[in-house]
Amino acid sequence: MDERYMRLALQLAETARGQTSPNPLVGAVVVKDGEVVGFGAHLKAGEPHAEVHALRMAGAKAEGATVYVTLEPCSHYGRTPPCADLLIEKKVKRVVVATTDPNPLVAGKGIEKLRRAGIDVTVGVLKEEADVLNEMFFHYISTKTPYVTLKYAMSLDGKIATKTGESKWITSEEARRDVHRERKQHDAIVVGVGTILADNPSLTVRFGHEGKQPIRVVLDTHLRTPLQANIVTDNMAPTWIVVGHHVTEDQMKPYEQTGVQFIRMNEHTIHIPSLLRELGKRNVMSIFVEGGAHVHGSFLSSCSVQQVIAYVAPTLIGGNEAPSAIGGEGFGRMMDALRLQVKHVEMIGSDIKIVAKG
Ligand code: NDP
Ligand code: ZN
Repeated sequence: MDERYMRLALQLAETARGQTSPNPLVGAVVVKDGEVVGFGAHLKAGEPHAEVHALRMAGAKAEGATVYVTLEPCSHYGRTPPCADLLIEKKVKRVVVATTDPNPLVAGKGIEKLRRAGIDVTVGVLKEEADVLNEMFFHYISTKTPYVTLKYAMSLDGKIATKTGESKWITSEEARRDVHRERKQHDAIVVGVGTILADNPSLTVRFGHEGKQPIRVVLDTHLRTPLQANIVTDNMAPTWIVVGHHVTEDQMKPYEQTGVQFIRMNEHTIHIPSLLRELGKRNVMSIFVEGGAHVHGSFLSSCSVQQVIAYVAPTLIGGNEAPSAIGGEGFGRMMDALRLQVKHVEMIGSDIKIVAKG
């Protein structure tokens, strides 16, 4: 029975995917005498936690009830008061937790507080699912750098463009719509200036997945992004351009007038680990790296890849000059290659989507 209610709590948590950052996804279910009397999910940072919604719905029935929550209840004063205190105040009998909160402000303290108040606490029900649910948040909390997803659309022979640089379109419309769903689940989209120059993309979330738009981040050491580029002029989402230390205030000014923000690195090049630390400081919990080949190559060679989402089209492009999905130096020895595990395979339209994780 515990698993059944926890599964429901996990499903509730999942419904808010893409809208809670920098907070985790959390769901809660209140059960009294075998009946669900309350449920809820955390919907947005700054808004009530899942437990608060669920207990509100349960009202007086919370007394003596069992509460299923996908993440350890918080014990600290953040933007909202601690949920552990609320559970105690509402006199619940038992709390079932899927996984503990690695946030050093909570980390076991929430559970301890409940136990000290005489509440029966069970920990670890559907832990694996709960850990996967919040893997981006857990990565961010423990490393202070964003969770990195590399995404690309490639032909059956591994090319992301033709030898002349054409890449519209390798995959079917259905696959391209799916990209918008995936974009929405990340805080920022990262591309190299090469992709801006080649494709002038808008990098927004569309096709019915609108809502909070991810930040658009361009790696552009010498500030070659045209002032007329869509990401500079369209005001559809925040745009951050990452530049080398040598780029001057005068060069940046005309972009800033259109609302673009800059991250100026301390070096003359954009070193990926330093970039990730900078993004982490700016509360970016996850990034969706959409290429091109050079940028993917830099992420691979700095071993900063947590997930790959590849869309593979049954098309052959060929040519030594046509770029493959990941460029750069590459590894010299097989033993150094990054080994991932396939977590999901799906046909989308005429293409195959593969999700692999480290
Ligand atoms: P990229 O978009 O990878 O941009 C590369 C440029 O980014 C570099 O030349 C460099 O320019 C700048 N840059 C800054 N910092 C870094 C860093 N740390 N690592 C790497 N690059 C950095 O361009 P590509 O030319 O490789 O790819 C563009 C091509 O790929 C286009 O033809 C496009 O159509 C295709 N494409 C295909 C996709 C697909 O999924 N099918 C997706 C995206 C692109 P600088 O030194 O001036 O800063
Ligand atoms: Zn809470």
